[in-house]
Amino acid sequence: MQRIIATEGAYLFDEDGNRFFDAISSWWVITHGHRHPRIMAAIQEASESYDQIIFAEFTHEPAETLAAGLLDIAPPGLRHVFYSDSGSTAVEVAIKMALGTFHNTGIARDRIVVMEHGYHGDTIGTMSTGERGVFNAPFEPLLFAVDRLPYPEAGREQDTLDAFEAICRQGRVAAILIEPLVLGAGGMKFYSHATLTALREIASRYECLFIADEVMTGWGRTGTRFACEQAGVSPDILCTSKGLTGGSLPLAATLCSSDVFAAHYSSDRRRMFFHSSSYTANPIACAAAVANLEVWRDEPVMARISELAAQHQQHLPRFSGDPRFSSVRQCGTIAALDLAVPAGGYLAEVGPRLRALFRERGLLIRPLGNVIYLMPPYCTSAEQLAAAYDAIDEIASLVLEEQRS
Ligand code: PMP
Repeated sequence: MQRIIATEGAYLFDEDGNRFFDAISSWWVITHGHRHPRIMAAIQEASESYDQIIFAEFTHEPAETLAAGLLDIAPPGLRHVFYSDSGSTAVEVAIKMALGTFHNTGIARDRIVVMEHGYHGDTIGTMSTGERGVFNAPFEPLLFAVDRLPYPEAGREQDTLDAFEAICRQGRVAAILIEPLVLGAGGMKFYSHATLTALREIASRYECLFIADEVMTGWGRTGTRFACEQAGVSPDILCTSKGLTGGSLPLAATLCSSDVFAAHYSSDRRRMFFHSSSYTANPIACAAAVANLEVWRDEPVMARISELAAQHQQHLPRFSGDPRFSSVRQCGTIAALDLAVPAGGYLAEVGPRLRALFRERGLLIRPLGNVIYLMPPYCTSAEQLAAAYDAIDEIASLVLEEQRS
């Protein structure tokens, strides 16, 4: 266990004088780099005026500015913002919005469709919609049933689309909830934007709500600000967190269309959207997110993202065709490759061993089982990234050798 005493840019510094290159952006939250000066200054300034303020009947400038700013950059059709404090709550809110929309309009639709290998959080509702397995086995009795689409393996995409259409035809589908383009915690599994577009098209045809969980994919990770943009998809509901504040403070937002909003807007208080958590729209976190929007507006963030993506592209060919690895892949700033071990999966023995060896080399890399991935902050230099790839190369050989002996 390392005790971290400071962070800066792409590094964490521990109390023993070691530094670690944060190659996974501290669980995918840090976008620009640790402690971006503009974001930290905004936090400092906001803390001169605010702490937490109830966000019912009362409002504040940071939340209002942020909501307006988010709607300006969000995919078209999203008109309202609901705040919460984590990726899981953003998705819980989305599920409740979808079910509430049909409940309040008297339409009998209560089924939620999700994708195999999906991950949406660790609360009961989000675990229900995520892949079942070792993460949530003890809680199985509490989890609700959902309809699952097969993961759209390259070349098998039509099976996923057909499965979705078949479920829609059966009726009662309220929403499809998916991670656009990248299934993160499920093993950095990528799928095509054409599939995303086609899923959206089917949802529209059957009037089922389309929920994009952009908690991980948002804020440039896949090469565009939101992954949906690449597929020309406008969801009915979009969940964002992690990079919303540049990763500096916990905050989340669930954006929705006017139809979803209208279904909950009534003088009949039974139709209200019932979700009130204490730290909703924390003003300091909102100020950090406003500063993040300014960083996106004023700094060459997209150029940094493209440069990072290009760097991945230069390194990855050396691993393609290498028998030590399979599925060498990239989506924007995310690169992943599977270590060829006999027993893969999240609990693969190699996971903890790889982690320890990376840490010894000053690298924060936490493989998902045998899936090694890099998702560093956008301030990462070419040298830092090259060192991470060299370490992957050497440590993979070491671990495979250990496995054989
Ligand atoms: N959705 C996705 C796609 C995620 O990757 C995550 C977190 N890794 C979550 C939801 C849950 O976010 P949080 O951990 O902030 O609750």
